[in-house]
Amino acid sequence: MALIIDPRIVKLTTRTEVDIKRNLPHAYLRRIGAWVFLDHFGPTARVDGMVVAAHPHTGLQTVTWPFAGKVDHRDSIGSKQLIEPGQLNLMTAGKGIAHSEKSLAGPSALHSVQLWVALPEAVRDMEPTFEHLGNPPALSLEGLEAVVFIGSLGAVESPAKVFSPLVGAELKVTGLAKVPINKAWEHGVLVIEGSALINGEQVEKDQLIFLPAGEGALEVSGDSRLLLIGGEPFEEPIVMWWNFIARTSDEILAMRETWNSQDESYGKFDDEVGGWIPAPELPNVTLRPRV
Ligand code: MN
Repeated sequence: MALIIDPRIVKLTTRTEVDIKRNLPHAYLRRIGAWVFLDHFGPTARVDGMVVAAHPHTGLQTVTWPFAGKVDHRDSIGSKQLIEPGQLNLMTAGKGIAHSEKSLAGPSALHSVQLWVALPEAVRDMEPTFEHLGNPPALSLEGLEAVVFIGSLGAVESPAKVFSPLVGAELKVTGLAKVPINKAWEHGVLVIEGSALINGEQVEKDQLIFLPAGEGALEVSGDSRLLLIGGEPFEEPIVMWWNFIARTSDEILAMRETWNSQDESYGKFDDEVGGWIPAPELPNVTLRPRV
């Protein structure tokens, strides 16, 4: 049974005026494969569309895929990377990294998604890395132009480094398309532009449809621009709080204290944003791992 998720509107941080649309996590849908977080911001013509000061991550990969505009990425392992539409920024936080993001002033509006992929137990404490992919591989089929920016779709595989079987792709559908998804994986399709009939369900702009594992076909009808995410069901219980992914409440407590004490372990870097974002107060409960 397909589930259709409307986004909830959230404020990104203290340093931006732009609302973002969050489709994951959701009360009825915690994750899709290892994808645990999906923010969709813009389109907006504001030149300060996104200004996010330094903040940490652990235990996850951030996946940034812009549709319009330019974003400057800086991080504490020395990466400085301007990203434009059609390009991927992939930051693997591992045991801990800090980064900032700032959209550039210019004639083009800002429109982007940023997602998080949970890292499996075996690698979640790895050294942080950063990767930029300027020209991800494409897949052309009848009615379909796909860019496979991460993971694999059909016979096309992105060189971006992943740690569990998954896919992230932008789809442009003209008329009718059959997308070659993996039957053993679960999938989500977010409508970016237009609207579409997806496996018989009408899905409007900004809505996400969830397709559980076992659906061997993805049939799309209607001119549309879509984001496809999916992967092997990720069975590890995780604790996700603020910008951290861990396995226990105590680990989250330690990650929070290390960041808020401005301990050197997350590393330092310079950017044009300035400052840093402290972690908020923890709720007065033990955070339980959830699948
Ligand atoms: Mn971030």
